[in-house]
Amino acid sequence: MHEYPITQRIVQIATAEADKAHGRVTGIDLVVGDDSGFIGESIQMYFDIISEDTPCAGAALHIERVRPKLKCGACGAYFERKPFSFACPACGGDGTPTGIGKEFYVKSVELEVDD
Ligand SMILES: [Zn+2]
Repeated sequence: MHEYPITQRIVQIATAEADKAHGRVTGIDLVVGDDSGFIGESIQMYFDIISEDTPCAGAALHIERVRPKLKCGACGAYFERKPFSFACPACGGDGTPTGIGKEFYVKSVELEVDD
């Protein structure tokens, strides 16, 4: 449910880009980490509703998922956590959480401009 306000924000950002270029939005590239707390499917659902009657209507939403990664405290390797384990696959050291997988941002907005 908390995807609703964030989806409104995405539509606002893309609409501002479209207005600046006097065009309309054909696609939006979104980066969503699995640990961001946002669910891509929900964003897509709200997007279809919110984008109606805006320059974003009918635009394709491309959602790039980012899997969370841990960093090994011993050898510095980045790796994806296995279920029930924080062990580094390279050296067996303990991994700690990083910011990887918490991303949430609009990467790019594709526009179509009439000339
Ligand atoms: Zn390691």
